[in-house]
Amino acid sequence: MPEHRARVVIVGAGFGGLQAAKALRRVEADVIVIDRQNHHCFQPLLYQVATAALSPADVAWPIRHILRDQANTTVLMETVEGVDAVARRLRTNFGEIPYDYLVIATGAMHSYFGHDEWSEVAPGLKRIDDATRIRRSILIAFEQAEAMAGLAEKCRLLTFVIVGGGATGVEMAGAIAEIARQTLAADFRRIDPRTARIILVEAGPRLLPTFPPELSDYAHKALERAGVEIQTETRVTNCDRHGVETDGGRIEACTLVWAAGVIASPAAQWLAVEADRAGRVKVGPNLSVPGHPEIFVIGDTAMVMESGGRLVPGIAPAAKQMGNHVGRQIAARIAGRGGDAPFRYMHLGDLATIGRRAAVVKFGRLQLRGFIGWVFWSVVHIYFLIGLRNRFVVAFTWAWDYLTFQRGARLIIEPNRRPPEK
Ligand SMILES: Cc1cc2nc3c(=O)[nH]c(=O)nc-3n(C[C@H](O)[C@H](O)[C@H](O)COP(=O)(O)OP(=O)(O)OC[C@H]3O[C@@H](n4cnc5c(N)ncnc54)[C@H](O)[C@@H]3O)c2cc1C
Repeated sequence: MPEHRARVVIVGAGFGGLQAAKALRRVEADVIVIDRQNHHCFQPLLYQVATAALSPADVAWPIRHILRDQANTTVLMETVEGVDAVARRLRTNFGEIPYDYLVIATGAMHSYFGHDEWSEVAPGLKRIDDATRIRRSILIAFEQAEAMAGLAEKCRLLTFVIVGGGATGVEMAGAIAEIARQTLAADFRRIDPRTARIILVEAGPRLLPTFPPELSDYAHKALERAGVEIQTETRVTNCDRHGVETDGGRIEACTLVWAAGVIASPAAQWLAVEADRAGRVKVGPNLSVPGHPEIFVIGDTAMVMESGGRLVPGIAPAAKQMGNHVGRQIAARIAGRGGDAPFRYMHLGDLATIGRRAAVVKFGRLQLRGFIGWVFWSVVHIYFLIGLRNRFVVAFTWAWDYLTFQRGARLIIEPNRRPPEK
């Protein structure tokens, strides 16, 4: 009788899942990577697609291509809908897939704090299609303002509200300000794009709450210099097609971007296990699910505590470290060498850009800001991109845009059928 070859199923080819697959590349096992998309998306640069600096293909790669040299690995484009943890089978939109080991790395999605209806008017940024949708609304707002007669409507069209003052909100606000003040400044005849209002609304007392206060303060001032209006300690109470309501008053606006909160993918419901308030599965020290040593949950879907009692943050390096750890644990178990080592997280740093020549960086004890921070940020992001072509294209595009103040991906692809409601 041929010996049973272990089957490891990894759900999600984001930062965590992809790293887990790579850690299993030399293991005597059948590895199946399942993702509902055919590409891995480099989310840290999605805002550049949303603001027309980069094209979708610059920040995404076919998963099949990334893993093409890994002979033990099969890639399936399917959507997972549930898990039968007793029978050890996954339910997908194409049927059932049995597993011996399961790694769930399905990430997180936007949270509208119980108001999912806001997603229609205030899209968040998570996937490529979110980015192209936001890009369209930003560009079309300027086009429609050029075509419209009424001053009030022009003002509404040229008001952009970003909800959430974390890294994504800060980066979006800085980039939209740059589009209005620099990229489009000379392109229109009936409107002055430089009069656009970009308003960043944050419920907490300061921007970038995970950064040291002095870097938050720097980012706040740099954004204000770039023309962004910042409203801290302001809570959004409603979003509609015409603007947002906050506890400080109403803002009429045509384009809203949601960067305020995330909730984990529904893995905890699939497994019927305990989750925290953000829906993250409470995993054990080795990242396996309590009561199921063969199931691991990693990345943004997992609630993992550091030894100091702090929560491991939902960022790409944390997901990659978890993926690597779990891949190694499974490899050790298949080889009959234990595989129960606890996960230890190493925090490398925090980075955020503010427009085309400023960034804040906290890297251990090192703190950088301004142009030097931006250079550091750029080098780090180019280094972590997948593929030589993308590194080259992104580096060249940034250098070109830096010199020319341009943004090459200013395309409205979808038809412009309907003028905005008055
Ligand atoms: C706009 C934005 C900017 C960010 N900027 C930074 C940054 O600058 N630095 C940083 O470190 N982190 C940043 N992050 C966070 C970072 O991207 C995440 O922490 C990281 O992607 C988490 O990795 P993951 O593997 O858990 O999930 P993801 O990378 O989100 O991958 C999840 C994968 O699972 C797939 N999937 C989900 N559900 C299913 C299903 N039911 N069936 C099949 N497949 C499924 C998805 O298609 C996706 O490919 C940013 C995130 C966003 C959204």
